[in-house]
Amino acid sequence: MDIDDILEEAAEVARPAAEHGKVAGYIPEMAKLDPKSFGLVMCELDGTEHGVGDIDEPFAIQSMSKVFSLILAMQKLGTEHTVTDELWCRVGREPSGDPFNSLVQLEHEQGIPRNPMINAGALVVDDVLIDHCKDPDASMRELVRQLTGDEIEINPAIATSEGGASYRNRAMANLMADFGNLNHTVDEVLTTYNDQCATMMTARQLARSMRFLANDGIEPDSGEQILDAALARRVTAIMLTCGTYDAAGEFAFSVGLPCKSGVAGGIMAVAPDHSGLCVWSPPLDSSGNSLAGRAALHELTNRLELSIF
Ligand code: GLN
Repeated sequence: MDIDDILEEAAEVARPAAEHGKVAGYIPEMAKLDPKSFGLVMCELDGTEHGVGDIDEPFAIQSMSKVFSLILAMQKLGTEHTVTDELWCRVGREPSGDPFNSLVQLEHEQGIPRNPMINAGALVVDDVLIDHCKDPDASMRELVRQLTGDEIEINPAIATSEGGASYRNRAMANLMADFGNLNHTVDEVLTTYNDQCATMMTARQLARSMRFLANDGIEPDSGEQILDAALARRVTAIMLTCGTYDAAGEFAFSVGLPCKSGVAGGIMAVAPDHSGLCVWSPPLDSSGNSLAGRAALHELTNRLELSIF
């Protein structure tokens, strides 16, 4: 059976799961998403692309932006050594076992977030980016352009909606500022973060953007070394252990690939030496991960034996 048929079948098996999930309602603009939207796409390293459903419709990347901001921070800091000195002393690398927007560990752990894939961790990474980029959001868009060949944009209505609903993120940023773990103002850091979350990309673009992580840090079309191979491995390790929050264990078990989700219902994944993947279906489970998305990735990785384990 060829890959296109397997994708079709995975989509068919997974789609009904969406009925048991809920579209993110805590950001008003996200509540408008159509629960029936569904797209599944695989971009192989040789440029071959396979897709089914809504793979060319832009949606807000939300927490998937946390991968791009981590990559950008690593690029700016340059080497494993400087990343250790300037980033890993301010944010950890352990799964939190808590929801992505939880505040509880921050107080106990002196304002050092568990990892860069939860909200508090991403706020610290953004604080680093403000130090190193003239315009961190523009730098992120440029990185994505390099990875996809496409220009992408921020949706201002979503960014504003995020800002109006960011009580928890503001509380985290304030707590971290109190512990001395932010160099910039809470407003500055939140604006950067909200704009990143409101970046619009299609499932196809997201899948393409993951190929370099499947290829030792080298973008396969241009041959450009986006990130040192050792640092690229760190990114995928963190995606695997922390990218889907308190469901990371379940994703490792049932999908077996480094993944990163977002509350608009996207999940992107890296199949080492093979492809970048993305699935989009807005209804979420209680951990904030797309329900049908996980089902589709489970089906696909099982059938194609893509699990890294
Ligand atoms: N913008 C969202 C938030 O900060 C992102 C969370 C997510 O996608 N998990 O709450």
